[in-house]
Amino acid sequence: KRTPFIAGNWKMNLDHLQAIAFVQKLAWSLADAKHDFADAEVAVFPPFTDLRSVQTLVSADKLELAYGGQDVSAHDSGAYTGEISGAFLKALDAKYVIIGHSERRQYHGETDADINAKVLAAQRHDLVPVLCVGETAEDLEKHGASAVPVAQLRAALESVDASKEIVVAYEPVWAIGSGQAATPDQAQQVAAALRTVLVELLGEEAAQATRVLYGGSVKAANIASFLREPDVDGALVGGASLDIDEFSAIVRFKK
Ligand code: 13P
Repeated sequence: KRTPFIAGNWKMNLDHLQAIAFVQKLAWSLADAKHDFADAEVAVFPPFTDLRSVQTLVSADKLELAYGGQDVSAHDSGAYTGEISGAFLKALDAKYVIIGHSERRQYHGETDADINAKVLAAQRHDLVPVLCVGETAEDLEKHGASAVPVAQLRAALESVDASKEIVVAYEPVWAIGSGQAATPDQAQQVAAALRTVLVELLGEEAAQATRVLYGGSVKAANIASFLREPDVDGALVGGASLDIDEFSAIVRFKK
């Protein structure tokens, strides 16, 4: 059975001092509520400059919280000004890395080939890629919901090692930050289509073990409806991951 996974993508919010305060309060909130991490794994994705601080706190307080970067270089080291190697993330005990977020595709021109190279880089450094796929409103109108995410998935997973864990996040672009989440049924349909392709690309066993998250205007009020769907295994949360009470309530969803 797939352990539900609640991931908070902070995007470009919270500096390293704010990150320390935030993670401390989040850990207290989850401890107060006696959250069992076997019921839902929790990870945060702070800006790169916060990661060392988060690592220090997580290791000092022995927190069960996982963390990762919001992006990674396709290269391992060298003359790539401004890039962050997967090796650096691994050295900070990051477990995950978000790859191919729609904001990187849109604002930084990342192509499917770039994203594939980043997924392979993550695997070289034993980071679990949280691969984001999703259609724009225009794609939805033209091609329906599944076509673009499925094509993005195929391209991103070319030549991957199927024996290593991968997380897929379905994030319809029109649902991100809009307050207009997909319906649970829409999320389920795309998640099921993605899993069908995962079977083809990774094999049955790996596909059944792969967690497919939904992202886009997830809140405490709608999380349970997504987790009730058989192919939705968690959420990638943006805005609501910056509010401790809200994020804590999302983590403690009850189906
Ligand atoms: P919101 O939860 O703010 O809609 O953002 C979703 C997202 O992009 C997470 O990666």
